[in-house]
Amino acid sequence: MIVRLPREAWETALGRLQLEVTRHNYDTWLKDTVGLDHSGDVFTIGVPSAFVAECLEKRMTPIIHKTLKAILQREIVIAYTVSQADGVARGDNALSLRAQTAAEPVRDRARPLGNGLNNRYTFDSFVVGKSNRFAHAAAVAVAENPGHSYNPLVLHSGGGLGKTHLLHAIAHHVKAKGLQYLYVSAEQFTNDFVSALREGRVEEFRAKYRNIDVLLIDDIQFIAGKEHSRETFFHTFNDLHLASKQIVISSDALPRSLPLLEDRFLSRLEGGLRAEILPPDLETRMAILTKKAQQMQVAVPQDVVDFIAHKVPRNIREIEGAFNRLLAMSQLTNQPLTLDLASQAIADLPTMAKRPATANPQEIVETVAAYFGLTSDDLRAKTRKKNIAHARQVAAYLLREDTSRSLAEIGQLLGERGHSTVLRAHDKIAYELNLDAELRKQLGEVRDSLDRRRSHSA
Ligand code: ADP
Ligand code: MG
Repeated sequence: MIVRLPREAWETALGRLQLEVTRHNYDTWLKDTVGLDHSGDVFTIGVPSAFVAECLEKRMTPIIHKTLKAILQREIVIAYTVSQADGVARGDNALSLRAQTAAEPVRDRARPLGNGLNNRYTFDSFVVGKSNRFAHAAAVAVAENPGHSYNPLVLHSGGGLGKTHLLHAIAHHVKAKGLQYLYVSAEQFTNDFVSALREGRVEEFRAKYRNIDVLLIDDIQFIAGKEHSRETFFHTFNDLHLASKQIVISSDALPRSLPLLEDRFLSRLEGGLRAEILPPDLETRMAILTKKAQQMQVAVPQDVVDFIAHKVPRNIREIEGAFNRLLAMSQLTNQPLTLDLASQAIADLPTMAKRPATANPQEIVETVAAYFGLTSDDLRAKTRKKNIAHARQVAAYLLREDTSRSLAEIGQLLGERGHSTVLRAHDKIAYELNLDAELRKQLGEVRDSLDRRRSHSA
């Protein structure tokens, strides 16, 4: 694969960088960047704000430089530019931070930070499947008829399943219609409010939020614990709601853990709607990979798509990570995109615990049972006792994730259960894993104990 487009080169670089920097750093600084231009020896990276440009320049230029240089196999200078539109904002908008001299300060911190939207996150690029159809339909309805369809619309799911994508897609859509919108993370909303409070500008703050047609607040769970901001959010919410302005909220946590979304707030939800996004099923995972390959203009063999879709956990962010990583490896080692390479790419993926290709299903059932102080027969029994049902769901999850058994076979292993029961059990655990640290710990321990068993019997 020859890297031609700056965009493609940068996606490849992101795949590598994802492995080298912490998840937090990646998500905060690198995730929403694009490769814009490569002319002469300058490689220009588009970033969402001057602040991100400054931070990347200060903290990450050496590693970015090293990575890109290896991919392009030539000396380059890195420039960052604040851009929202892919490949559009350049020229005098460029901040021209030189990688090697790193001397030029960021000139225009005060420049408005664009519209804060990722251009990639549109309805067009959103793959609709069983798991997100409802949320997608609600988002489209709201975008077409803001303030009238469902107000507020609350999207919720575990991480990496498309909430932010849908929020941005709504924003792009209403923006094209000439409506005023504001997209903020709950954290930003809180910070904004706190500084308004400090500087005696609360009225101004409220006016700013009152004067928009569509307010999109991402990751509301970050407001949840903060009394003052919660109060303000509630008033702002009321103002807007009374004026039939559209409000869209995303939440990463279970609603019951969010006092904000309960009581007073939820009692206003009349006319509102909560839509949940579930982890994507196999078909949707395949469709997402196919779309991603198209977007990046690389030909990926069908068997490779199938393989990744089967192997990668049901979180779209991780699917994208695996895919980027595969492209990076293919590029770096000059190998074609084969099944073999895909399995290497996935084996090393940091988010994937290394799983043996052939876990023994019987062993999984026994190990899970033992871990929860039960027997295999307990798992197969008809009972719905809570602790047994939970262990059974964990077993279903592991059997589906770590073996190649069909749903029907897994159903048999767990006591003549139907395939939809297995699927539901699996999806429940997959979903809760996003939210529940205790469950993640349990699963890790079960897998460890499976590994130990195997190394003894090997
Ligand atoms: P969340 O906000 O729920 O944590 P994001 O919206 O950030 O998740 O999604 C994570 C990544 O997965 C993004 O790059 C996004 O574009 C992609 N993604 C999520 N859902 C879809 C989808 N249905 N089709 C295409 N890409 C998706
Ligand atoms: Mg998000």
